[in-house]
Amino acid sequence: MKIAMIGTGYVGLVSGVCFSDFGHDVICVDKASDKVARLTQGEVPIYEPGLEAVLARNVAAGRLYFTTDLARAVDGADAVFIAVGTPTRRGDGHADLTHVMAAASEVAQALTGYAVVVTKSTVPVGTNRKVAQVVREANPEADFDVASNPEFLREGAAIDDFMKPDRVIVGVESDRARNVMSDIYRPLYLRDFPVVYTDLETAEMVKYAANAFLATKISFINEVAALCERVGADVKEVARGMGLDGRIGNKFLHAGPGYGGSCFPKDTSALARTGQEYGVPQRITETVIAVNDMTKRRMIDKVMNLCGGSVNGCKIAVLGVTFKPETDDMREAPSLTIVPALVGGGAQVCVVDPHGQREGEALLPGVTWMDDPYAAVEGADCLVILTEWNAFRALDLKRLATSMATPSMADLRNIYDPADALAAGFTAVETVGRAGT
Ligand code: NAD
Repeated sequence: MKIAMIGTGYVGLVSGVCFSDFGHDVICVDKASDKVARLTQGEVPIYEPGLEAVLARNVAAGRLYFTTDLARAVDGADAVFIAVGTPTRRGDGHADLTHVMAAASEVAQALTGYAVVVTKSTVPVGTNRKVAQVVREANPEADFDVASNPEFLREGAAIDDFMKPDRVIVGVESDRARNVMSDIYRPLYLRDFPVVYTDLETAEMVKYAANAFLATKISFINEVAALCERVGADVKEVARGMGLDGRIGNKFLHAGPGYGGSCFPKDTSALARTGQEYGVPQRITETVIAVNDMTKRRMIDKVMNLCGGSVNGCKIAVLGVTFKPETDDMREAPSLTIVPALVGGGAQVCVVDPHGQREGEALLPGVTWMDDPYAAVEGADCLVILTEWNAFRALDLKRLATSMATPSMADLRNIYDPADALAAGFTAVETVGRAGT
């Protein structure tokens, strides 16, 4: 199959690269000429483990190209995937579809024969029909169908998630479109990964319902964590006890500083907005959003408490600022709420993150970036662990405590056993969901 992929962000690039690895001919398009130039050189502009190698082998095989020329990519394609950003629209919290509609209109003018125009971006229910309308208006002669194919990959594990998905969801309205989509995903269902065909609206809703449900699990355990702290229970054990129940499952039950990233915050917000628009308020999702905001603020209080009620004049070392490990993505990371509050409170903040600095520098003004956790804590009053990168999971606690001015720790990912930290010389330890010591 010939595939055009519009947008080479986290989703478009991974999807394009993996489709070419399935054996399809893929041309990836982006407006950002610097990105395309780097990709053409074999350089991957984002940090995503394993991506560079798969990209290189498919470029070498002559199946994968990058261009800024959308018309060239769309010409003769069997399917054109739209994988551009759908950020939160300023003002009302809904998904901003400007990029999707602009891409649809450009694609329409470039179509040369029958093609399926597939929306891979996360878009609110009803959008695929609007995409069809935009294409029809921009090119009344166009021979096309639309399909909704939301993406479920996780940054940091994107290649595996794309190649071995729990499921692929495809919303279609014609057999012709279904046949094209099934040819594209044939390598997956030959290996028994489920490909589920639905109507357009259902496919669009699956994506939002799935993300809102995962966000609900996170906010749920974070709220339970706050209660555990008060009543003397241990949220890690509570989550384990819950998660062993097969009906609940143990995933997404890790208490922490709140969810972030490029999906959960904007998708929960868009789902809540859709509910309001249709007069069917999504009260659980609305509460999930409010609890997440509260959770992030609770983390600031924990650090303040460790510093004696105010961080003014304190030196604080923060380990990890990306929204999760194994990605450089800083979008909506809890650090973007917590670190500015510390800086604004008068703290001197040193930050260490294995891949966060490039994105983080502009987003976190007033902090000092360092490479080494041990150097960052020297003379510090508080150590804050915000992202559970592997590099922070087995630190020498004694060495850390010894070099700090006041050895206190806010372990906001519950990496360390507080008893071990105390034994190593920390005098105060805050975690999430266990009474502070
Ligand atoms: P991104 O912002 O990283 O990338 C979007 C890319 O599209 C950018 O490189 C931009 O330059 C390009 N672009 C925009 N308009 C264009 C046009 N008209 N022509 C060519 N290129 C254009 O976004 P992302 O994180 O890859 O997300 C894309 C979509 O996938 C979003 O709807 C998102 O919600 C969804 N999604 C993301 C993830 C994730 O983990 N990031 C997972 C699942 C779904």
